[in-house]
Amino acid sequence: MRILLPDKVKTILSVLKEAGYEAYAVGGCVRDSILGRVPDDWDITTNADTGAVKSLFHRTVDTGIAHGTVTVMLKEEAFEVTTYRIDGEYEDMRHPKQVVFTTSLEEDLKRRDFTINAMAYNDEDGLVDLFGGVQDLENRIIRCVGDPKERFGEDALRMLRAVRFSAQLSFDIEEKTAEAIRALSGNLSRISEERIMTELTKMLISPHPEYLEKAWELGMTKVFLPEFDLCMDTPQANIHHAYSVGGHILKTMENIEPDRILRFTMLLHDIAKPLVKTTDEEGVDHFRGHQDKGAEVAEEVLKRLKCDNDTIRKVCELVRCHDERTLPEKTKVRRLLSRLGEEQFGRLLKVQTADTLGQSMYQREEKLARVAAVGMLATEILAENDCISLKDLAITGRDVIEAGIPKGPEVGRILAAALDEVLAEPARNDRAYLLKRIKEY
Ligand code: ATP
Ligand code: MG
Repeated sequence: MRILLPDKVKTILSVLKEAGYEAYAVGGCVRDSILGRVPDDWDITTNADTGAVKSLFHRTVDTGIAHGTVTVMLKEEAFEVTTYRIDGEYEDMRHPKQVVFTTSLEEDLKRRDFTINAMAYNDEDGLVDLFGGVQDLENRIIRCVGDPKERFGEDALRMLRAVRFSAQLSFDIEEKTAEAIRALSGNLSRISEERIMTELTKMLISPHPEYLEKAWELGMTKVFLPEFDLCMDTPQANIHHAYSVGGHILKTMENIEPDRILRFTMLLHDIAKPLVKTTDEEGVDHFRGHQDKGAEVAEEVLKRLKCDNDTIRKVCELVRCHDERTLPEKTKVRRLLSRLGEEQFGRLLKVQTADTLGQSMYQREEKLARVAAVGMLATEILAENDCISLKDLAITGRDVIEAGIPKGPEVGRILAAALDEVLAEPARNDRAYLLKRIKEY
């Protein structure tokens, strides 16, 4: 097997080799190359210790000396070079108590999580595949290196990584590996939210966000996202729906592009439905107020998972307004554009389309047609450069103050009233007209 290494990787490998060390490309980059995918980054494993690596390259960064990792910079590109190591005893199922370095490539490959991630390559030795990684790639299987129970016992995060890789690659999880997850999923509770969030995000923005269902089946979401388990247990007896709340969430994630904010919005848009569900005399289920409650629960979930504030704000805003069915009328569309801003408005249309595609066929065409019509009007409004925000308004706060209004909240109120009028009638965004109106507001 021959893998086409980038020139910079060849350079690093040959510098190490000429100094008398072994060195290989390893892990994800080898896996992706065999699959014909372009690797995100190239990691290198070597028997050189960190001191040696640092002395051999001009520019290095001490990213994880304690774990044997030095980042080598070539031009603007970064390459992680890590000394062969064996992870020591796992104290708490997440951090090796101590890192033990080794001179054996085999030992280094043995500590890695899955067979497809445990291959090394260089041009002299070719592919080093000690655990059947190529075969598992061919059979499209995620399998632990060694005994799955032992490996998940060392680091519980690997269980979530199994589903993450399965979603990224559309692979199955091998039976013994899956069985071990089912038995040990509870141990995920000892893993930090940050590490869980990294894997969950990668899973959600993969080609198969709906594989979250596997994480649910195997008992993992129960640990870090119990709100989702509740959704899976909540049927929707309602003409608009064809699936449980959880089933619907999975469908909507499949029907939206692989963007972090959009996928998290779909994950959370109906998350509070189980909490507000009522059933009327006819046996029809209703979920009144699930939008506002949903925004609250979404914030709680995202904060717990240590998500950044900007994402939290955007996702929660979309969750809150995901059900607003703005009519395709220019004034209404201008108001919505003004309230959300262009970017969030664009996201909302995608969210509403995906939401519809995850529902029953009932009125589907009408629902999609409304969203499309709103989108077309927005395009026109933006093309016409209609004023949709205070910064496009023909008067400013200073004008209001110069007209004799004292500084304070009243100024903002007047500007808002002017914008409101202009949103209804763009031609009124005229300086002379608005100056005259100041006093009347
Ligand atoms: P990605 O394309 O997402 O970066 P990757 O395979 O490079 O995929 P990383 O999380 O970057 O995944 O890890 C790099 C390599 O380190 C893996 O391929 C695997 O060999 C090893 N590895 C990472 N995390 C673990 C872990 N928790 N347990 C065992 N080995 C791991
Ligand atoms: Mg990687």
